[in-house]
Amino acid sequence: MLAAPINPSDINMIQGNYGLLPKLPAVGGNEGVGQVVAVGSSVTGVKPGDWVIPANAGLGTWRTEAVFSEEALIGVPSDIPLQSAATLSVNPCTAYRMLMDFEQLQPGDSVIQNASNSGVGQAVIQIAAALGLRTVNVVRDRPDIQKLTDRLKSLGAEHVLTEEELRKHEMKNFFKDMPQPRLALNCVGGKSSTELLRHLARGGTMVTYGGMAKQPVIASVSQLIFKDLKLRGFWLSQWKKDHSPAQFKELILTLCSLISRGQLTAPACSEVPLQDYQRALEASMQPFVSSKQILTMC
Ligand code: NAP
Repeated sequence: MLAAPINPSDINMIQGNYGLLPKLPAVGGNEGVGQVVAVGSSVTGVKPGDWVIPANAGLGTWRTEAVFSEEALIGVPSDIPLQSAATLSVNPCTAYRMLMDFEQLQPGDSVIQNASNSGVGQAVIQIAAALGLRTVNVVRDRPDIQKLTDRLKSLGAEHVLTEEELRKHEMKNFFKDMPQPRLALNCVGGKSSTELLRHLARGGTMVTYGGMAKQPVIASVSQLIFKDLKLRGFWLSQWKKDHSPAQFKELILTLCSLISRGQLTAPACSEVPLQDYQRALEASMQPFVSSKQILTMC
């Protein structure tokens, strides 16, 4: 292994409250990039020196070395940045599928999301910009909010708002200058998701993919009746079960070409040597850090 991030779902898996749990004893980590050192005599898809990422969750990426079957891995170009390869197989895939699979969006359409500074959120901003979509990005307020706003705007975010700003009465006029979103991406749940729903266009869809606030989604009855909003969920592991390995590989290559064109960069991150994993694990669970912890093994 060369590098592997610490994602909230890795922590959930260790806590035992994730949709997929490995047999114990197990190695943590579901995402990352490795370099092939040697292959068996029947292996044809990868060769020594190639960069590979996990095809599925549960592989255990927080380690230095492993023996995997060829089917467990997907080759990626080794000329993309290491941090991009290490963070490719979960969050950008989730962002891309949610932008493509729920509403037929056209360039100029808008999308609203919360936890916009998350790994998924940063990928949504960049992929949406590459597709010509306009984004309204909600984040939690913090002392250095301007710095975060500037960073998200530099990725292609059109608007960055705090949760409090989204609740303000003046938001009524906000969508006079841009189309109301038909797609909302909910990483948080609770009040934050109720607010996203308030701004969706009639017939629009809110896709819930994370529950960072650990609060249920509460939808107003009148929004559901009078605006016919749709509430959906997305789980990448399920998408992979419903699609072929070739379709997942195609998705990975699409994202690699966005990376090569400079349209998709890795989330803001801090590299931590594997032996300091405790420090990285602690940092990964702190609020307002805005930096993905990446364990490095090389
Ligand atoms: P990440 O980079 O670690 O970011 C975490 C985000 O959650 C940050 O924006 C953080 O905002 C926010 N947050 C943390 N606690 C919060 C709270 N109590 N209320 C509101 N916001 C809070 O995370 P990630 O790797 O992108 O993953 C984000 C979520 O998506 C996780 O729940 C993960 O499991 C999920 N996910 C789901 C799928 C799927 O297939 N369904 C795929 C990938 C990821 P602050 O900066 O304000 O702390």
